[in-house]
Amino acid sequence: MEAAKPVPVRPLGSSTSHSPGKRSRNPYHAARPTARVSDADPVELGVELLATLEDGKLDLATAIDRLETVTDDPHTTREILDTAEVRGVIEREDGIVRVLSGEFVRFGRDVVTREGEFTCRRCGADVATGYFLCLDAGEHGPFGSSCIETVIGRR
Ligand SMILES: [Zn+2]
Repeated sequence: MEAAKPVPVRPLGSSTSHSPGKRSRNPYHAARPTARVSDADPVELGVELLATLEDGKLDLATAIDRLETVTDDPHTTREILDTAEVRGVIEREDGIVRVLSGEFVRFGRDVVTREGEFTCRRCGADVATGYFLCLDAGEHGPFGSSCIETVIGRR
């Protein structure tokens, strides 16, 4: 009978190289306790989010960074951008997204806050005050106080 051989140690990470889904740096999906937010159609939510951006003009990478708070799926992100363009919400040119809609978000009216234990949907930080963007398609959040401003393009 052979003596038990030492089990070869598998190099770290070698078994996950075929899982592109693991690349997401948004910890929200793993951490969120409920699926409540996903009731809203991500495309509608994303189009509305673009419509409320205060920047007016931003590069595509920044727009996609905002949309990543709605969906991790690049196909859905593209669908949001296409839908927004078809509806005249945005205009795309040379990697620049121009927001044509003037539906600016105003704090106190379209953003609500709740106290509790929240995980920021953008950066994954624990926050005691959750900021939610109220859109027709549904609520978008929670975010921390600085991330909500980033998401709506206030800074
Ligand atoms: Zn955050």
